Amino acid sequence: MEKILISACLVGDNCKYNGGNNKSPLIDKLLERYELVPFCPEVEGGLPTPRHPSERIGERVKMDNGKDVTFNYNRGADLAMNICLHLGIKVAILKENSPSCGVHNIYDGTFSKKLKRGEGVTSEKLRKKGIRIISENEIEDFLNE
Ligand code: SF4
Repeated sequence: MEKILISACLVGDNCKYNGGNNKSPLIDKLLERYELVPFCPEVEGGLPTPRHPSERIGERVKMDNGKDVTFNYNRGADLAMNICLHLGIKVAILKENSPSCGVHNIYDGTFSKKLKRGEGVTSEKLRKKGIRIISENEIEDFLNE
């Protein structure tokens, strides 16, 4: 069965910054056809849960209290890439709007709930290395391919 990397919060892990999750209703359908490998780049990058929300500001990532967490975000992205290489993963399903996992949109760096076109640190890294990136909003289309 093909393995797919997936944002851990999408399978129901409570790894979101506020201690919650973003469980997708399509997980069971995915599991019928794929082996899911849940991964949270922020937790694996060394950040606690719950944690302050962060946003990308240019090439840096900062928490809403001003703390620079770029190192943690880059570390999480590197670890995600290592897992993909190690397991031969070619597709990742990632959580839209996140500064790590956002696929098409991320928050704009002003902590005012405004989105802009852009991608998270992990999404960007994986995409540039040739991994196909899909957001949770595109799972249905992916299953219908
Ligand atoms: S970093 Fe990604 S996997 Fe972790 S909580 Fe945020 S969106 Fe979910």
